[in-house]
Amino acid sequence: MRRPFIAGNWKMNLLRRSAVDLATEVAKGVGPTDGVEVAVCPPYVYLDAVSEALAGSTVSLGAQNVYEATEGAYTGEVSTGMLLDLGCQYVILGHSERRHLLGETDEMVHRKLLAVLAAGDEARRLKPIVCVGELLPEREAGRTEEVVARQFEGSLAGLTPQQAAGVVIAYEPVWAIGTGKVATPLEAEEVHNHLRKLLEKRYTAEVAEVVRILYGGSVKPGNAAELIQQPNVDGGLIGGASLKGGDFLAIVEAAARG
Ligand code: PEP
Repeated sequence: MRRPFIAGNWKMNLLRRSAVDLATEVAKGVGPTDGVEVAVCPPYVYLDAVSEALAGSTVSLGAQNVYEATEGAYTGEVSTGMLLDLGCQYVILGHSERRHLLGETDEMVHRKLLAVLAAGDEARRLKPIVCVGELLPEREAGRTEEVVARQFEGSLAGLTPQQAAGVVIAYEPVWAIGTGKVATPLEAEEVHNHLRKLLEKRYTAEVAEVVRILYGGSVKPGNAAELIQQPNVDGGLIGGASLKGGDFLAIVEAAARG
């Protein structure tokens, strides 16, 4: 049984005070018995402050990116060890904004993924949320499954089954991110089902059974329930709606109701 997971991607939004206020609201609003795992991913510079605001709650802390090297002369980059040091449990990899605005390739995402999986120890692990998703022209050309399969192979292949079992995948059609256009539950389910089959083919049936596949792209309180009710949709990666405490908590509630 896969535990539903709702993660908020705050992107490059909020300042310190509003980030702490939002984290405090989310921490208070998520009950321990909801059966849903919840994480928030603030900008790097507020990880520490948000970590403090989340202390004692069941809400996990995530980062929006990481660099592949463990240390050294990489000006402006942040390592897995630094994220662990700040209390991060999750890190988003290969978000479409990084792929399409900042030139991140599947190879780069793969190297980051290996760094994340190698970080920490039994007691303290960093868990990757790897994003894949097609552009609008690719969907219109009927190439969605091919594009997602290429990103899957390029970013996620070559792991041990045990490593693969610890990965979270986020299917985020690029045309639905921040646009208000949401994939229909059926469109999302088709791609999630495709990704689960890829997991089975590349790894094992057991891996395919345990890996959580989140949907992302204009998820709001009004559409969350029917998306999350799809058999292969295990939660959501939420952008815009995660910046409003009430909306984000309503999405968590929808996931809890299943
Ligand atoms: C995202 O950035 O991961 C995202 C899904 O954004 P939004 O919910 O705003 O579409």
